[in-house]
Amino acid sequence: MDTGILDREFKALVDAHPRAMMLATQEPRIVYVNRAFQQVTGYDADTVVGEKPSVLSSGYHGRDFYRSMWRQLSTENRWEGLVWNQRSNGEIYPQWLTIYGVEVNESQCYVGTFMDVGDLAAMDEKLASLAYYDVLTRLPNRHLFQAFLESRTGQQDHSPAHFSVLYLDLDFFKEVNDLHGHAKGDELLVQVAQRLHSVLRKGDVLARLSGDEFAAIIEVDSMAGTEAFCERILNAFKEPFVVNDEPHYISLSIGASLFPLHADEDRSLLEKADQAMYSAKRMGRFRYQIFNPDINRKLLYEETIGQYLSRSIVESHHEFSVVYQPHYMLESGEVTGLEALVRWHHPVLGPVPPSDFIPIAEKRGWIAELTTVVLQNIQVHLKESTFRLPMGIRLAINVSARHMLDDGFVSEITRMRRYTDQLNWELELEITETSLVHFNDQLSLKLASLQEQGIRIAIDDFGTGYSSLAYLQSLPVNVLKIDRSFVARLNQQQADITLVRAILAMAHALNLEVVAEGVENEPQRLILCQLDCKHGQGFLFAKPQRWSEQLFHALDMDQ
Ligand code: C2E
Ligand code: CA
Ligand code: CA
Repeated sequence: MDTGILDREFKALVDAHPRAMMLATQEPRIVYVNRAFQQVTGYDADTVVGEKPSVLSSGYHGRDFYRSMWRQLSTENRWEGLVWNQRSNGEIYPQWLTIYGVEVNESQCYVGTFMDVGDLAAMDEKLASLAYYDVLTRLPNRHLFQAFLESRTGQQDHSPAHFSVLYLDLDFFKEVNDLHGHAKGDELLVQVAQRLHSVLRKGDVLARLSGDEFAAIIEVDSMAGTEAFCERILNAFKEPFVVNDEPHYISLSIGASLFPLHADEDRSLLEKADQAMYSAKRMGRFRYQIFNPDINRKLLYEETIGQYLSRSIVESHHEFSVVYQPHYMLESGEVTGLEALVRWHHPVLGPVPPSDFIPIAEKRGWIAELTTVVLQNIQVHLKESTFRLPMGIRLAINVSARHMLDDGFVSEITRMRRYTDQLNWELELEITETSLVHFNDQLSLKLASLQEQGIRIAIDDFGTGYSSLAYLQSLPVNVLKIDRSFVARLNQQQADITLVRAILAMAHALNLEVVAEGVENEPQRLILCQLDCKHGQGFLFAKPQRWSEQLFHALDMDQ
């Protein structure tokens, strides 16, 4: 077609238009391009006129994509959407393309107008009003971002494309806003957007999803590349932001998902990046996390348990119960004590193992309430027992080191003492070795004062922490419970007795009693006896069980 059909005035008009424009025939062949076209694409008119419009294509979109574009053009005479095209220098960039049909000299033609949406400088048209841009930062908003993502993931057949989606969330931004006011908060957001933009490369897409949440599509093709990119962003945030000559340090947490490794669909890619960002927050903030289904499942499970646990601890004490596992003399099978162990049966979750919910209760500060419920259960058992209780054994209760430092702790224990004193039982508190490492000075004073009142202190799961001999010596402790992982090594053919022997030697030197946990079979019991370990507990003798007379029955070791 002859472009002579365009008269001079009309050409001048089209050339001055700020958007790139291209006229093509139905064939399709390019017949005219304006000046903005040449600026955005890098192609001059001589090169592209007479060519197919596909010279511009990036290869990101498959045949289906173009087929549906043409279908819509033929029925509605108009198509609009995001297209990734390629400049003459090979650079791939996203453009917002509008195509519509026009009749020129009685033949059907198409006009394509577009702009480079990744280029902030091209934003001279107040596109914000199109509801696709965020007014404050001038970045694409959530809608536009979704359109970007959709057009990148959808309809690819020979996809060369690997890319990553980042979900970026500022840490403690609410506090910044509350502390300094919204005007400063806004200014900071603008600077954050600029800084993020400066780390990105041409062709990458950055958007503001809402408040202090940003997202990006970055052109990297590997896990390592994504990690390196996240590092670069984190590094960029080590420098302060300056507002009114004052420096502000802002950090952010990043989650990333990779296409097509983690998902090949736009929505779930963003969702996974979001979940990964959440893990990054949970792991301490100012860090990145690549999506990992295992971490996510764990966090999700913890979250579910946390939600239910908070309610049950406040409202549904009946869901908790206490079972007991006796300790025995390893030689004679005589019962020397009972360890109380909590059980939680939730109406929806069913029975939840204590190893799943105790750490959550500790972390979220509910362990004191939980221990109170445990103590109440025990007191009911002791008070309402329908059988005669033996005298002179021990009652061991698991407590959290953190809870011991609470003001109310001693009075709760004193109340418990009234019950055990009546039976002439000794009260023993078990604290895990790992929790001791964190709270030394204060705790050791507390332990000493409890010990002065006649309460015995046991270190639970001994061997799993890093207590040194000197440290143990300084702690007021009566009992070491050897962790069951050491006992488990005793029944192999070449039993690994070195560690248990060393622990026993150390304990004897410090005048500590030793209880072996998790004794599951006879060979283990025999080795422990040979090593002069006096006390044991484990499935060989009894599993944790409900309160009953059975708990106090001695076992016959000669059978
Ligand atoms: P723990 O204090 O070391 O309790 C012993 C755990 O080992 C119990 O698990 C018990 O069922 C299990 N066990 C006993 N004998 C054997 C054996 O021969 N083989 C094996 N494989 N396991 C054995 P449980 O009841 O699931 O409790 C897990 C942990 O949860 C406890 O470890 C303790 O740290 C914590 N816990 C339980 N009840 C309470 C509680 O009332 N308060 C606090 N703070 N923690 C508790
Ligand atoms: Ca224990
Ligand atoms: Ca233990």
